[in-house]
Amino acid sequence: MEQLLEQIAGYRREVENFQISDARQLEEFRIKFLGSKGLTKSLFAEMKNVPNEKKKEFGQVLNEFKQLAEAKYEEARQTTASQGSFGEEQLDLSLPGDEISLGSRHPVTLVRNRIVSIFQRLGFSVADGPEIEDDWNNFTALNLPENHPARDMQDTFYIHQNPDWLLRTHTSNVQIREMQKGQLPIRIICPGRVYRNETISARSHCFFHQVEGLYIDENVSFADLKQTLYFFVQEMFGRDVKVRFRPSYFPFTEPSAEMDVSCFICGGKGCRICKHTGWVEILGCGMVHPKVLENCGIDSNKYSGYAFGMGIERPALLLYDVNDIRLFSENDARFLRQFVNAV
Ligand SMILES: [Zn+2]
Repeated sequence: MEQLLEQIAGYRREVENFQISDARQLEEFRIKFLGSKGLTKSLFAEMKNVPNEKKKEFGQVLNEFKQLAEAKYEEARQTTASQGSFGEEQLDLSLPGDEISLGSRHPVTLVRNRIVSIFQRLGFSVADGPEIEDDWNNFTALNLPENHPARDMQDTFYIHQNPDWLLRTHTSNVQIREMQKGQLPIRIICPGRVYRNETISARSHCFFHQVEGLYIDENVSFADLKQTLYFFVQEMFGRDVKVRFRPSYFPFTEPSAEMDVSCFICGGKGCRICKHTGWVEILGCGMVHPKVLENCGIDSNKYSGYAFGMGIERPALLLYDVNDIRLFSENDARFLRQFVNAV
């Protein structure tokens, strides 16, 4: 026991006198006194040979020694680190940095951003609204009263706590809400997610995304609508794109039209994408029905306006040559990773 205490006293002097001026000496110190085969470890191993009545005293002396060695190590470590004597040999600034994985934008987001930015340049601002909507804002105000046959084309999901609540079938509810605010003129674009009670397949899903636009002011005409949409498709699909309007029917617009663009894949010659017609259907549009204006408290004798709406998934399928709409919502990283460099 006495011998051990003398030994420890000797080691204490060694610790105190140990010169540490660089990283190599620091490591030598650590290995000698604090390493897994170092002196502190081997002294603790002696504990079993110390008589029971002396164990407490020995343990105390030994712990003090350990704390001394640790304190010296820690102090020297900080000193050498701040002096940079660690770094000079080990730091290689020419090595490539750690790779940072940034992910990628979703293809639906890419197309939505493109559409929105084109209309923003024309002075449209983005408006938003709820996905859970009541019957009035989603159907009735849009000239789709209960029992109207056009409602069948937009079957949706109802909230069972309240039969008046449903998941919106289009972003037109945002238009209704904006019109009801009564601040004219209105020039808005409404991107968002919508729902339909449809069988899920490669071509259709029970939810998808839309962008709708609405412009209401005095003396807005169909010519304004045509020119705005023509500008849009030129920005979206290129200067050479042609458009055609086909008469159509929507309860909320009169007159109504579907707009096609010349197929941007084959340039109008006919291909698989355009089903060999040379045309691709891109959006529905028309002049806002006077009844819709009146429903929202707007004087239809003074004001007129146009509205249009398009899906986002469909142009995304075409632009990126994706063959199944379900891929957009399956969150398969192998699919999404392919859009890292897409614009
Ligand atoms: Zn084509």
